[in-house]
Amino acid sequence: DTIGDNLDRTVAAHGERDALVDRASNRRWTYRELAEEVDRVALGLLDLGITKGDRVGVWAPNCPEWMFVQYATARIGAILVNINPAYRVHELEYVLNQAGVRALVAVPQFRTSDYAEMIERVRPTCPALTEVLLIGGERWAELRERGRAADRSRLVEIGRTLSADDPINIQYTSGTTGFPKGATLSHHNILNNGFFVGELCGYTEADRICMPVPFYHCFGMVMGNLAATTHGACVVIPAPSFEPGATLAAVAAERCTALYGVPTMFIAVLAEPAVDELDLTSLRTGIMAGSPCPVEVMKQVIDRLGMTEVSICYGMTETSPVSTQTRVEDSVERRVSTVGRVGPHLEVKVVDPETGLTVPRGTPGELCTRGYSVMLGYWDQPDRTAEVIDAARWMHTGDLAVMDEAGYLSITGRIKDMVIRGGENIYPREVEEFLYTHPDIVDAQVIGVPDPRYGEELMAWVRLREGAPPVDADALREFCRGRLAHYKIPRYVHVVEQFPMTVTGKVRKVEMRRQALDILG
Ligand code: ATP
Ligand code: MG
Repeated sequence: DTIGDNLDRTVAAHGERDALVDRASNRRWTYRELAEEVDRVALGLLDLGITKGDRVGVWAPNCPEWMFVQYATARIGAILVNINPAYRVHELEYVLNQAGVRALVAVPQFRTSDYAEMIERVRPTCPALTEVLLIGGERWAELRERGRAADRSRLVEIGRTLSADDPINIQYTSGTTGFPKGATLSHHNILNNGFFVGELCGYTEADRICMPVPFYHCFGMVMGNLAATTHGACVVIPAPSFEPGATLAAVAAERCTALYGVPTMFIAVLAEPAVDELDLTSLRTGIMAGSPCPVEVMKQVIDRLGMTEVSICYGMTETSPVSTQTRVEDSVERRVSTVGRVGPHLEVKVVDPETGLTVPRGTPGELCTRGYSVMLGYWDQPDRTAEVIDAARWMHTGDLAVMDEAGYLSITGRIKDMVIRGGENIYPREVEEFLYTHPDIVDAQVIGVPDPRYGEELMAWVRLREGAPPVDADALREFCRGRLAHYKIPRYVHVVEQFPMTVTGKVRKVEMRRQALDILG
């Protein structure tokens, strides 16, 4: 099936059920109405001369139009290019040229970002870009008008020429470790991934998913939108970008059954007084993913938000994204301490990064994944593709993992973040988990900093609870003593208000390491 075929199926089965709710504009669409909007945009794009294989960019915070364009491009076989709403002129220009974007759909403004103005600035140096459609603007309105007038049978004809293996999406990675790479994905890659993620969350047409995570990222567009539409569930957009208060208000008002977030979002949501004031009893499940999920936070998500069936997923943009997921029937213990088991129809193995040989269970090594979810490749970068996908089609994730006897995986961190202190391998994750148990610490991140004696030393960055007394390095080391092996006790402690983050809420350890050099002089 293509994404278009699948949407048709959902409309046939659940046409009159809610598909999408936008809280900011107070608009809602049933599946029949969603498909009508999608077809209009698809026909409008065709009318502009956009056809199979052409790249269409979307640059906007979460809004219904984002979703219309997502499905409209898939319908006509155009390639959707997700553009990070936090990008500025320089990054926009890079992505537009790297992907050869022909048409760009964008919001004109949002908060302090003047997208329209930034687009005008890059136009002279982006020769492929011939169409700019500002949502709410004249050309967008015309596109929808022409789409309405057009003959729908054209879409059916085009549908017959598409293959599930065609590239339909270029998703740039988060850029946590460097410049983002454009993972090229097919219908087959992301439609299946969305479907299986939804299956393992137990979604049906009765589910309503509160989605504060950005659509531009695979977490939003695949694990959110595609997981919902493949099961007839409804997507609720609480606000254009993440706001903890609006998120909780949306759950209560729309009786959402699922809530998504990266760990930092859940930490912010849990700090809202509304958690104890609103009726959140509709919540059953949800997904926490994207970066290490602290055990303490998971426990609160289950106890205080009532998300008893919450799922943890592990994945990366290059694998559509999910590779492992916890299941509803897994014990709470497993759901707070692992990233679950391999997903349906996928394979995983943990190898010694030096020799490439599979390591015994319980031994950390590089996680590799294989199966339907592995991307077609990085867009226009065959050399970089060859660095991560080997001849047997195994994707080398760059993440360190441990597999237990029952096949459950724990992610110990990125290979690049591992600290080697005086010959001992230290996984910052383990130290971070321990620091979370300190009553005054709400968030902890540990990095390695250069040290003449040991090669590297540990530095902990911590965020303190509001009103907490100051924590100094000696006091914190005292807290660790006797409970952490001596070499895992951070030598330096740095208290911060905020960590350097990507727009998806991931901590940028590369940037922390850079800043640490200045801090330590
Ligand atoms: P870039 O590749 O551009 O540096 P990125 O790797 O952060 O950025 P994504 O594809 O968005 O970009 O993220 C995938 C990475 O996120 C994984 O390789 C892994 O390091 C991390 N990750 C995802 N889910 C989890 C999880 N549940 N636990 C721990 N880490 C996770
Ligand atoms: Mg990556």
